[in-house]
Amino acid sequence: MVLEKLSESLKNTLQKIAKSMFVDEKLINELIKDIQRALLQADVNVKLVFDLTKKIKDRAKEEAPKGLTKKEQLINIVYGELTDFLGKEAYKMDIKEKPFKIMLVGLFGSGKTTTTGKLARFFLKRGYRVALVGLDIHRPAAMEQIEQIAKQVGVPCLLNKKEKDPLKIWDEFKEEYKKYDILIIDTAGRDALSRDLIEEIENVYNLIKPNENLLVISADIGQTAQKQAEQFHKSCHITGVIATKMDGTAKAGGALSACAVTGAPIKFIGVGEKTEDLELFNPPGFVSRLLGMGDIEALLEKAKEAITEEEAEDLGKKLLKGEFNLIDLYEQMVAMKKMGPLSNIMEMIPGFSQVKMPKELLQVQEGKLEKWKHAMDSMTKEELEDPEVITTGRIDRIAKGAGISPKDVRELVKQYSVGKKMMKMMKGKGDINKLMKKFQGKMPKGFGM
Ligand code: GDP
Ligand code: MG
Repeated sequence: MVLEKLSESLKNTLQKIAKSMFVDEKLINELIKDIQRALLQADVNVKLVFDLTKKIKDRAKEEAPKGLTKKEQLINIVYGELTDFLGKEAYKMDIKEKPFKIMLVGLFGSGKTTTTGKLARFFLKRGYRVALVGLDIHRPAAMEQIEQIAKQVGVPCLLNKKEKDPLKIWDEFKEEYKKYDILIIDTAGRDALSRDLIEEIENVYNLIKPNENLLVISADIGQTAQKQAEQFHKSCHITGVIATKMDGTAKAGGALSACAVTGAPIKFIGVGEKTEDLELFNPPGFVSRLLGMGDIEALLEKAKEAITEEEAEDLGKKLLKGEFNLIDLYEQMVAMKKMGPLSNIMEMIPGFSQVKMPKELLQVQEGKLEKWKHAMDSMTKEELEDPEVITTGRIDRIAKGAGISPKDVRELVKQYSVGKKMMKMMKGKGDINKLMKKFQGKMPKGFGM
């Protein structure tokens, strides 16, 4: 995969969000740092990185839109900002007139000639009649190279090995061009964008008037692509960029973001040496793959099945205030059950690993919750709010109403008083929200994540 390392770090970052229980400032700061580190390693320009992460941070402060949790909102912001960062939309190939002329320009070795073959294949597969035109009169073996590539793809190649003037070569095949839907024109490069090269491109451009004049740029130059793209953009009527060699470099993020800021959109990316190694550049899809969005969505879905942020927060607040009724206990038991064995969770809380917990509290047995739910349905409001008022006589009545044994009801009442005691102990242990967050660390087990 292209940009494997960047993808790996960004995925880890998003996983962190998906798995955390609360979105708070600390998490956002951590996320920002992670993204900065990942992008800087991909050779993205420092200023661009800071601009981007500032945007993410500012937007993270916004209220989550209806129907989105804070986590989903945060992941969406990262996704959206990265997509914008790389050029927003996919380029729509609009073959308006025929022949549609696509000219490739760029420095030596950037991949122009290779890319003519890739583009030819791309359009051939989409049903167009395509021909290559070879106008690189500088490189000694250039004509042989493009001839061979054309043969490999199975398209005609129009060139003249003896002629040294690209304008004359172009004029030579005027009649031929009518047979094709698309012409892909290879031009000569130089080591740098010299006066000489600008002039040559200018002359060819004015004669051919290409519909697309694409700058081919090698992604392995990283953020220095910006200068190159800007120069070409200014002097050579560039309509877009093809970033090649995306497969062999960790710096591609730098090249892509650098081109995006010049206003010359990236239209294709080259991802290998073979003719099929070309992709239409689609920022939303690209970023989605980079971030492993499919996986993230699945993860968020799973997290949703467990306790929600609001639920946890509500419960935390209630417990802190000491308002703790049987329904809270029940809800907490359900939540705990989803999180995994309570004993695992207790170990996470400072000071609690030493506290001797009654065994029955640490294990919510299968089937128990169901019985307790029935018991609670048969209780009065007063009993639910304060189970300590439940006398032996009431226990029998509840059991009968719920169709369970008095023993089950007694267990529930006992569970409540143990739970309440536990909550009193926890009250002295600091912020309950922090404790709840610690539970999260243990969650993956119970979650199957
Ligand atoms: P030109 O001088 O601009 O015409 O560049 P060429 O088309 O001759 O390519 C220069 C070298 O880059 C060749 O060895 C190509 O095989 C290689 N190349 C071009 N595009 C890609 C790409 O997307 N990935 C990889 N790995 N190599 C590429
Ligand atoms: Mg070439």
